[in-house]
Amino acid sequence: MDLTQLTAHELSDLLARRETSAVELVKAFSDRIDQVEENVKAFNILTRDKALEQAAKLDDKLARGEKPGPLEGIPMALKDNMCTKGVPTTCSSKILKSFVPPYNATVVERLAQAGSIMLGKLNLDEFAMGSSTENSAFAKTRNPWDLERVPGGSSGGAVASVSADEVVFALGSDTGGSIRQPAAFCGVVGLKPTYGYVSRFGLIAFASSLDQIGTLTKDVTDCALVMNVIAGHDPKDSTSAPVDKPDFTKSLINDIKGMRIGIPREYFGVGIDPEVDKVIRQAIAKLEELGAVVEECSLPHTEYAMPTYYLIAPAECSSNLARYDGVRYGYRAPESGDVVGMFKKSRAEGFGPEVKRRIMLGTYALSSGYYDAYYLKALKVRTLIKQDFDQAFEKFDLLLSPTAPTPAFKFGEKSANPLAMYLSDICTVPANLAGIPAISVPCGFADGLPVGLHLMGKAFDEGTLLRVAYTFEQNTDYHKVKPSLGVK
Ligand code: GLN
Repeated sequence: MDLTQLTAHELSDLLARRETSAVELVKAFSDRIDQVEENVKAFNILTRDKALEQAAKLDDKLARGEKPGPLEGIPMALKDNMCTKGVPTTCSSKILKSFVPPYNATVVERLAQAGSIMLGKLNLDEFAMGSSTENSAFAKTRNPWDLERVPGGSSGGAVASVSADEVVFALGSDTGGSIRQPAAFCGVVGLKPTYGYVSRFGLIAFASSLDQIGTLTKDVTDCALVMNVIAGHDPKDSTSAPVDKPDFTKSLINDIKGMRIGIPREYFGVGIDPEVDKVIRQAIAKLEELGAVVEECSLPHTEYAMPTYYLIAPAECSSNLARYDGVRYGYRAPESGDVVGMFKKSRAEGFGPEVKRRIMLGTYALSSGYYDAYYLKALKVRTLIKQDFDQAFEKFDLLLSPTAPTPAFKFGEKSANPLAMYLSDICTVPANLAGIPAISVPCGFADGLPVGLHLMGKAFDEGTLLRVAYTFEQNTDYHKVKPSLGVK
C-alpha cells in the first residue's frame, strides 16, 4: 500500500489501529518529496527535521494507548503567505526572502494543536497576485498532470503538493480564485470558505476585504475535517465572524434529492472551452440523476465582476503593501542614499513586475480626483453583485458553474498578456466580492487535463456545498485518478 496516496481520514484510521506510525508517515511523504519534487517544485522550504521530531513525540503518545485526533500525525504544508514562527515566510517575494515571523498565524496554531505535522511552505505567485504561479520570485511550480503546464495560481505550490501526493492536505488563500482555480487545474478539492469564517490573523495581506484562507484536500471528507480545525471565531482578527461553527462532517450526506441548483448563464459565456463545457454539462446531468432540481438562472451584474475586482483588489493591495519600506520588513537595498532613496530602491528591487503593476493601479484608483470615479464606484457595483447572489439564493440552495473556463494552460501562454491571465478567474472572482463560500471538486477531464466543478453557496452554508460535493464524489471516481508525473 502506498501511504502517500491515502486521505487524512484513511491515514488516521491506520494510525488509530497502530498499523502505521507518525514517523513512518513523515518518512513516506519525505521519500515521495525526494522522488517528485525535482519535477514539481511545489516547496519554498522543507521542515522535515521538525516534522520528524514532532512525529516521534506523537508516536510516544500513541504507544501509551492514546487515540489520535482526526488530523493528528497527518503530514501537510502551508502556502508561504501564512506566518510560521521561526520558519521563513516569504510570499515568494524577494522583499520578504529572509523574513522569519515571530508568531504563528491562527490557522497554524490551530493545526498544531490538532497535531498535524507541517512538512514545509509552498510556492505561490508573489504576494498571491496571479493565476499561474509564474509570478513567484523563486521557482515555477509545475502541474503534476502535465509538467509543461502551469498548476494555476496563486496557490500553485499548495495545490501541486496535494495533487502529487507530497502531502495529505494543504492550506491556501483565495482572494479571487487562488484556491479554486488551481484546485481545478490539478484535480483536487479546494474550498474557499465564507469571508470571516477562517481567521486571517497571520495571513500576509493582499486585499483584506477579499482574502480568505481555505483548504486543499484529496477528497470532500478531508475538507470537512480540516474545516473543523481551522474555522471559527478568532478575537485576533477583527473581521472574523462571531458565529458558532458546526461539525462540518455532519454534512457528509450522500443524498441531494430535491436540492435546488441554479446554473447562472453568464458563467457559460464567451471564452469557455468547449471540452470544459461538455464536462460540466455531464456533471450537471449526473446531479440531476442523483435527484437535484436544476434550473438556469441569471446573475446580471457578472460582466462587471472583473473590472470591480481589478479596482478593489489593487486598491487594497497598494495600501497593504505600503508597509514594505526596507525599514520594518525584509529586503533593504544597499547604498541607496537618503531615506526616500532607500524606500524607492528597496521597493523597486524587492517587488516583481505584477506586484508593481497592482500597486500602481491601486494607487491610481485611490488618488484624489479618481477615488469617486473608480474606487467608490467599484464598491457600489460590488453591492449590486452581492445583491444578484442574494436574489438567486431566494430560489436556489446553491449555484453551479465551471471553476475555470479552460483547463491548465502552458507556461508562457498568458504571462505576456495580463488581461488574458486575469480572465482565468472569471468564474471565481464573484464569490470573493460577495463574501460567499465556494468549492471546486474534480468532475472529469478535458484533453486529459482535470476540470473542476464550481459550487457557490449562501454565506455560512458550507454544509450545503459539502453535501452536494460529497454526493457527487461518492457517485463518481474522478477524485481517485492520479497524475503519472512521469514516475511510477
Ligand atoms: N488570480 C487573481 C489575482 O491575480 C486571484 C488571486 C488570489 O486569489 N490570491 O488577483
